Order: sequence, then C-alpha cells, then structure tokens
Amino acid sequence: MLKTPAYAAAAPKSPLAPFAIERREPGPKDVLIDIRYCGVCHSDIHQARDEWYPGIFPMVPGHEIVGTVARVGSEVTKWKPGDTVGVGCFVDSCRACDACREGEEQYCGAGLVFTYNGLERDGKTPTYGGYSAHITVDQDYVLRVPATLPLDAAAPLLCAGITTYSPLRHFGVQAGDRVAVVGLGGLGHMGVKLARAMGAEVTVLSHSPRKREDALRLGAHDFVATSASDAFTANAARFDFILDTVSAPHDYNAYLGLLKRDRTMVLVGVPDPSPLSAFPLVMGRRRLAGSLIGGIAQTQEMLDFCGQHGVVSDIELIAIQQINEAWDRVVASDVRYRFVIDLATLPRE
Ligand code: NAP
Ligand code: ZN
Ligand code: ZN
Repeated sequence: MLKTPAYAAAAPKSPLAPFAIERREPGPKDVLIDIRYCGVCHSDIHQARDEWYPGIFPMVPGHEIVGTVARVGSEVTKWKPGDTVGVGCFVDSCRACDACREGEEQYCGAGLVFTYNGLERDGKTPTYGGYSAHITVDQDYVLRVPATLPLDAAAPLLCAGITTYSPLRHFGVQAGDRVAVVGLGGLGHMGVKLARAMGAEVTVLSHSPRKREDALRLGAHDFVATSASDAFTANAARFDFILDTVSAPHDYNAYLGLLKRDRTMVLVGVPDPSPLSAFPLVMGRRRLAGSLIGGIAQTQEMLDFCGQHGVVSDIELIAIQQINEAWDRVVASDVRYRFVIDLATLPRE
C-alpha cells in the first residue's frame, strides 16, 4: 500500500484537516497518478455535510482531478508515465449492464464506484478523492487532458464541464437555440462557455444581480436578475432549453414557465426537494428532466472539444490550507467561478 497524505472530514460537518490514507499499489490494469490540481465542487460540500445521504467517513472529497501518470501496471496499454491525465466523478463500474455497454457508465445500475464517498467493487473498501497526493485508478476510467489547456483551469472540466456538456449534447442544443443557464457558479459558468461555444444564444438567470458583467464576459448574450419583479413575466416562453445548476431549493415552476412549448428544462443541481406543480408542464407540453455527469467516452469528447475551443474554467487557485474558507465562500455564492486546490501545497512527510 502507498501511504498518501490527504485532507479529510472526520465526521459529517467537521472541518477538513490533514489525514493519511492508503492507496493500492497499481495492479496490472491500474495507473498511479500524481495529483497536481483538484477542483472544488459543491457536491463535495453536500456530501461532507451529509446533505444528500449518510456519507462514509472519514471522507476525502474531490472529483475534478488532474495530474501526471507516475507508474502503470504491467497490462496497461493506454497510458505511460508522464502523461497528463484526469479523473472525474467515478473510478469504476460493472462494465456489463446496459448503461455501461452503451457508454453511459454514470447510470450503471450494478456497481458505479464514485471517486470518493463510495465503495470499491469489493463492496467494502472506501474510495477517497482528489484532495490528496496520489490516486490509483483502472486505466479505463482515466481521461486524456489536451496539452493546449492550462492544467489548473482544466481540472473543473472533469465534473463541472462534463455535467453541463452532457445535457447540452443529449438534448440536442443547436446553434441559434435560446439557452438559459440558471445559477452562475462552477457548473453554471461552464454551461455558459460550452453553450456559447456550441453557437447557442445564452442568457444567465441569477439570484446575484452583481454577476451581470461577469456573465457577459464569460460569453452570455443576456442576463436576467431573478430578483427583478418582472423577471418571470418578461421572459415567459422565451427559451428552447433551460439548464438549472442551482444548489439551493428554488421554485422550479417559475422557471418552467420560461420555456417555449415542447421544450425541456434539465436539472443538474441537486438541492433539497422543492414542490412541483403540474401546471407549467401541462400548459406547454414542457418537460422537466435530470442529468448526471457524463460517460467516459463523452467526457473525453468534451475535453477534446474544450481543447479545440480553448474552453477552461475561471478559477481561483488555493492552497489546501484554505479549503474550509473556500467551502464557506462556495455556499455563499461567492466563488468566481471555481476554486482549484494546488496539491503542491499539501504537506508531505
Ligand atoms: P456553486 O458553484 O455553488 O453554484 C451554484 C449556484 O447556485 C450559485 O453560484 C448561485 O448562482 C446559485 N444559488 C446558490 N444559492 C442559491 C439560492 N439560495 N437561491 C438561488 N440560487 C442560488 O455549485 P456547483 O459546484 O456549480 O454545483 C451546483 C449544483 O450541481 C450542486 O447542487 C451540485 O451538487 C450539483 N452537481 C450536480 C452534478 C450532476 O451530475 N448532476 C454534478 C456536479 C454538481 P447565482 O448566484 O448566479 O444565482
Ligand atoms: Zn462535482
Ligand atoms: Zn454497469
């Protein structure tokens, strides 16, 4: 086993603190990665604070991992030491179910292994995420990061990037479509950049009126402050597609009214439940859908798309010692627009 320095939450809602974990020695099909940067996703906070379901503690969060291949197992064909790679939200799956065979591993019914707060396929070994020095991952769950992208700003593509890219592609957003992105945080700002790169006409809907200039700078064509009294009437039936990235409970019904007839609003944010009325769905044959990250093949497609279009995240690089303060700022919607941890700051023995 490889002793690996990390930062962990010892129990639900505990602050993160230094903690040593053990990584497995790379098996024949494994890759050992030296982690250079890891993005900070709101899901890290939801899980470490038990906001979704009881978590596995101590918890080492982090699923926006980029780094360098240090060693490979004897049967690894896809990677070699020195390669620049990424790891996203999951590190294994059953490989046999319909979802896995169709390249939608994130919906694996039989054994998706989340990068942290999960169990390996043996059903007992906890997984630990990227707030750590190294990670051992099966070669099939590793992604190639285009060399043209700055590595720190590319880290958030592994979750925020694919989580917004996947529904834009799956629901067939086309050039010229009117797309609304709700919530300008880590996911939302990637949604803006990606929808814009796909040629959509993008509007940001935000509960933070002060984000207007940023929204336009990030590529949005328009900005709606949802606190304005006429926000929902003035924009009724305006959009072809709505991507809702909001992390806190809010009124889905009001946003559904902003869709044209027969169009879809996709939830990627996972807040506590909010009441849903049939009316806005029935009155316009509108659809409300959800979407979870993306499969390995589509994640690679997204990384290559970002390489071609020069799309990365707007980040604030932090030392691991700043992580608790950074989490509080994320919860306060005060992140511009993704924190990324520089793992060189992690104390090593
Ligand atoms: P984030 O950076 O904190 O962004 C969330 C945004 O939601 C904020 O920037 C804010 O945007 C808006 N918001 C926050 N509090 C609000 C409130 N009280 N009322 C209205 N709007 C509020 O979080 P993130 O990392 O982008 O993650 C967003 C959500 O997606 C989280 O729930 C996360 O767990 C989830 N997620 C889902 C997937 C998936 O696969 N489906 C993957 C990753 C993350 P404004 O200030 O512009 O209003
Ligand atoms: Zn995430
Ligand atoms: Zn499966």
